[in-house]
Order: sequence, then C-alpha cells, then structure tokens
Amino acid sequence: MRRPVIAGNWKMYKTQAEARAYFSALVPLVRSCVHCDIIVAPPFTALAVSVEAVKGTPISIAAQDMHGEPEGAFTGEVSAAMLVDAGCRAVIIAHSERRQFFGETDERANKKIKAALAAGFTPILCVGELLAEREGGKMEEVLARQFSGGVAALTGAEFSRIILAYEPVWAIGTGRTATPEMAAEAHRFLRQQAAASFTPERAAGLRILYGGSVKPDNIKGLMAQVEIDGALVGGASLNAEAFASIVNF
Ligand code: PEP
Repeated sequence: MRRPVIAGNWKMYKTQAEARAYFSALVPLVRSCVHCDIIVAPPFTALAVSVEAVKGTPISIAAQDMHGEPEGAFTGEVSAAMLVDAGCRAVIIAHSERRQFFGETDERANKKIKAALAAGFTPILCVGELLAEREGGKMEEVLARQFSGGVAALTGAEFSRIILAYEPVWAIGTGRTATPEMAAEAHRFLRQQAAASFTPERAAGLRILYGGSVKPDNIKGLMAQVEIDGALVGGASLNAEAFASIVNF
C-alpha cells in the first residue's frame, strides 16, 4: 500500500509575512491528517519562516530546486546540504518550468537527485510531455527519456527513496487537466519503466503524483485511480483553504 502524498508548489509567490499567514490558516485545517504526507514548497526566502511555522504539524517543507554540487562558485545557487540545514525534507527536481525557462537537463536532474539522496532528503522528480509531443504520439518516448535520465545509476535502495511526479506540461497552470484515465495511463507506463530499470517490487512501491491544474473539485476523481498516489499542486496550493481541501480529498 503506497502512502499518498499531497504536495504544493508555490513557485515565485509569497513573502515571509504571507507564508506565516498561510500556515496560520492551513495548520488547523490539516492538523489531524493521517491519511497522507503533506509537503509545501515555498520560495527560498520563505523557507525559514515556513519550517518554523510547521513545527509539530504533519506538514513538511520542500525546496523548489537545488544545485547538484556540494558547494562552490555558483552564484545564486543553493546546495542540498544548505537546504537540509534550513529544515527542508524534500526538493522538487526538474519541474517543467525549470526545463522550459532555465535549461534544466535530464543529466543535471540526475546529479541533483543523487546529491539530494546523499544529503538525506527526498527528491521529487518531475517528468511530462509537451502538448505537441502528446499530439505527435511521442508521450511515451519523452517520459521514458526523462525518467531514465533522471534516475540513471541510482541503486535500488536509492530509487526507493524518490517520488515521481507526472506533470503533462499542457495541463500546468492552464486549467486543462488530464482526465483521471489519461493520468493513470501515463502513471502505468512510468511504473513499467521503473520495473524494467529496477525491479517489479521497487516499481510497486514507487509513489507517482499527478500534477496539472489539480483543484478541490477534481482531486477526488484523480485519487480514485489506483495508479495515482497523490498530487503536485501549483496554483491551488497558494490558497490555504483550497490546498487543505485537496489534502483532505
Ligand atoms: C505545478 O506547478 O507543478 C502545477 C501542476 O501547477 P498547476 O497546479 O497550477 O497546474
């Protein structure tokens, strides 16, 4: 039985004061949650106040990206050890906005995943096809490439510690959600890839989240699919009440 995960990605939104106000509203709504893991990924500048605000609650804090090197002359970057030091328990890797706007590659994502695992926290690897790729019949090819590139050379034990997020790019921030069946089909394909690269047992334990315009009114249908182990939520995670209602699906 895979434990569900509901994760929120704030992207480049919220000041420290807004983060504090958000958690004051969210914590009472999810305090008694035992059915899933809850993760929130604020921007770097709001990590410290967020970590403080979720102490003693079921919520953990994630970063939205990191650098693959332990330290060095990389202006503007943050390492895995720095994020652990800041109280992060997870990190989003290769979000489609990083791939699209900041040149993220599968090779770099792989390096980041290894560094995150070595630092002792959970990488959430994002994969997903563009609309043109889906319409051109290339969805499986793209997912296979992003998956195998991202998890290359991980041991089975390391692989068991990652979370995968299937986020079709055409559904992110567009209000256009993949149907639960479309998402489940992609998840099944990714699980087959995991079984082929590792073992059927490791694949069966892999948690695969769906992301792309998840809202309070479509989460139930998505979570009804056995292949869908949770959600990575962008826009709707910015509102504490909306995010709580997704958590309490
Ligand atoms: C995301 O940013 O990962 C995402 C899925 O965004 P949204 O929920 O707004 O589509």
